[in-house]
Amino acid sequence: MAKTVLITGGNRGIGQEVARVLATEQWDVLVGSRDRAKGESAVARLRKTTAGRLKVVELDVTSDASVATAAQKLRDGAIKLDAVVNNAGIYGEGRGDVGKTIETNFFGPLRVTLGMLPLLRDGATITNVTSGLGELANLDRAHQKLLADPALTREALVALLQDFVESDGRDGGAEPYNVAKAALNALTRILAIELADRDIKVNSTCPGWVRTDMGGRDAPRSIEEGAASVLFGVTARQTGAVLRDGKRIPF
Ligand code: NAP
Repeated sequence: MAKTVLITGGNRGIGQEVARVLATEQWDVLVGSRDRAKGESAVARLRKTTAGRLKVVELDVTSDASVATAAQKLRDGAIKLDAVVNNAGIYGEGRGDVGKTIETNFFGPLRVTLGMLPLLRDGATITNVTSGLGELANLDRAHQKLLADPALTREALVALLQDFVESDGRDGGAEPYNVAKAALNALTRILAIELADRDIKVNSTCPGWVRTDMGGRDAPRSIEEGAASVLFGVTARQTGAVLRDGKRIPF
């Protein structure tokens, strides 16, 4: 039986390439897209080069209602998930976008994971697409200490990120994107423990600096290389790790 994956932000960039590879490998691919038309265009493009089965799932990771509707539609279709790739992300420019950056890059993966959890098969994988900028060394001392604490709970992590947004990122002076991705890595560690009893593996994977709309033309890595790095999370046997090209990186 074919395996099924949901990829958020699957309509372009790294997410679209992850969709292409998995469809080529005969996965059933649910291409998450906040804009249905963009999702349909991506699926049409991908169908030209793959034999896999692809379907659009309208999904805005910043919206509880959107995630709930998507989960309900999958449930109605009796769809079970073998993998979720939390790929959708934005690189907020500077400090103006604190709320949106944290909402999309941290709360988005959390919201999608919790929303899709009842649909995940035991033994499934969750891949949180992170960034080298989320390495703790890129944060202020206070955030480094809080996020590295092995006793950090999911509730405390959520409260920390809410405080960061409420203080408009002034709290500690770290860049919102870096804080979001470092917090996503901490979330990976926490969810890996929470979901171990269902053998659900949760890992963060970093694509490296990639030539997408986000990464720009000067990035050293192709989309294929970035996606290949992300794909290690989909087939991972380990859990709770932060990986680039399948190897653990510091976080
Ligand atoms: P991209 O080309 O800018 O694509 C971003 C994707 O995320 C698009 O599909 C976009 O949808 C989607 N998205 C944004 N906000 C969303 C929302 N609220 N709900 C649903 N989808 C949303 O970026 P990329 O380079 O492929 O990046 C993919 C992931 O890799 C991100 O998590 C990013 O942080 C991470 N990353 C990228 C690099 C790099 O160098 N490119 C480096 C490290 C990590 P629309 O088309 O509707 O905007």
